[in-house]
Amino acid sequence: MKIVVCEFNQETNSFNPVTTKMEDYEQGGIYRGEEMLRELKDKPCAVAGMLQAIKEANAEVLPGLSMYAQSGGPVEQEVVDAFLQETMTFIRQNLPVDGIFISFHGATQSTQYDDICGLISETIRREVGETVVMAASCDLHGNATEKMIKNLDIVCGYHTYPHKDFFETGYRAGKLGMEYLLGEKKPRMVRVMIPMIVPASGYTTISGPFSELMAYGESLVKEGKLFDFSIFQMQPWLDVAEGGSVVLAIASDYKIAEPYAVEMAKRLLDMRNEFNPKLYSVDEVFRMAAENKSNRPIILVDSADSTNAGAVGDNAYVLKKLLESKLSIKTAIVIDDPPAAELAHQLGVGKKAVFSIGGTEDPVGSESVKVEANVKSLHEGVFIQEGPAGRGLVRNIGHTAVLSIGNIDVVVCHHMMGNGDPQLYRAFGIEPTFYQLVVVKACTSFRAAYRLFAKEICDTNTPGAASVHLLSLKYRKIPKSFYPFSDLKGYQINDIAYSRL
Ligand SMILES: [Zn+2]
Repeated sequence: MKIVVCEFNQETNSFNPVTTKMEDYEQGGIYRGEEMLRELKDKPCAVAGMLQAIKEANAEVLPGLSMYAQSGGPVEQEVVDAFLQETMTFIRQNLPVDGIFISFHGATQSTQYDDICGLISETIRREVGETVVMAASCDLHGNATEKMIKNLDIVCGYHTYPHKDFFETGYRAGKLGMEYLLGEKKPRMVRVMIPMIVPASGYTTISGPFSELMAYGESLVKEGKLFDFSIFQMQPWLDVAEGGSVVLAIASDYKIAEPYAVEMAKRLLDMRNEFNPKLYSVDEVFRMAAENKSNRPIILVDSADSTNAGAVGDNAYVLKKLLESKLSIKTAIVIDDPPAAELAHQLGVGKKAVFSIGGTEDPVGSESVKVEANVKSLHEGVFIQEGPAGRGLVRNIGHTAVLSIGNIDVVVCHHMMGNGDPQLYRAFGIEPTFYQLVVVKACTSFRAAYRLFAKEICDTNTPGAASVHLLSLKYRKIPKSFYPFSDLKGYQINDIAYSRL
């Protein structure tokens, strides 16, 4: 039995005006053939899980193309076209094949199409016909569109947030795909979509109502009622006409899967008002930090500018507000700013100059600030991320400098990565516990590491492409009968789709 394995992965933030290009994929990782097997088989990623499931079934792997990029603005269509062209050629050369297993994010938009995972699934399905088994893994924040459901036999989403079950999700998709091919199971998938988006920092699977719903789904699988299930809370910064939260249930029959999918979707809908995190104002956080005499920092969460959520990472809003406040707070901040990093490298350590910090990539959406700063240290920008990154743990953020403005230290770099890991500071000589205030541009992933030493973690009201205030963003495509734009009182479940009938 021959199974093609491939990957096209990126999470799109429609409000980030900087498009995602081939060089972003080169940075995230492009592998093909034997190189893909070598690079990914031992990594904590979905592709590795699929490979494991294929190996256990003694089937043959045909390793195709894997392309992965960090979250960001819409993908240039020519990048998608390049993936499709190479993948379709590879599939044609290897026909007949029995299965095609794909690792997606699920919320990928291009400069031309809203539903890239649907487009890829449909293009492959058209080529290989109805009998080939197609299985995909997705991020919990994916957008499980009708085109995906109708062209794929199996879709499995992460069950954890913060995400840590990358491998396990790929394994679930791969295993069910192999069981289908071997005639052991006949999976039938039902999708229920509800018109709602909620901020990603409003829930986790560690505690709270969302974690209870996830546990309920897992109990249904354990009891043998379902083969698999997924709950997608589509990442809310994706502005598309077809999108929303989704419950997927897979069972031996649509009639078995559908009532469970509807029940879980109703429960998810009912908890919609519980997903709004309490937000501090920057001034409230500054006041707390100014009084902080402990050796534990206050964490100001600037999730609106989190590159993990596809924002630009170049917003100097917090720095600007802090300078305006005239408060003396020992602070660490990180900001994407290639020109400032290069200027610091030209000047050398110990030199002083007026820097314009921030707003270099999105001059319209991001604040900048002009200020005299000292070049404190210079770095190549390579560090090892300790947390579960899901990919290679070596991070390269390009030429990096630490600028000091009084007792504020600003890390300026080319492309921020590994935001959830304190190593993004420690690797550049900044020990967070020596600071009263540390700014973290991340959403949820950072909590595991930061809560070990933070005095307080403050979700803060800041502007940006990944703002928690969804109503402040300029959605153009999402229908208006959508939560939180509408309260959905009296809404009846009506959007049900089935995998191939
Ligand atoms: Zn996610």
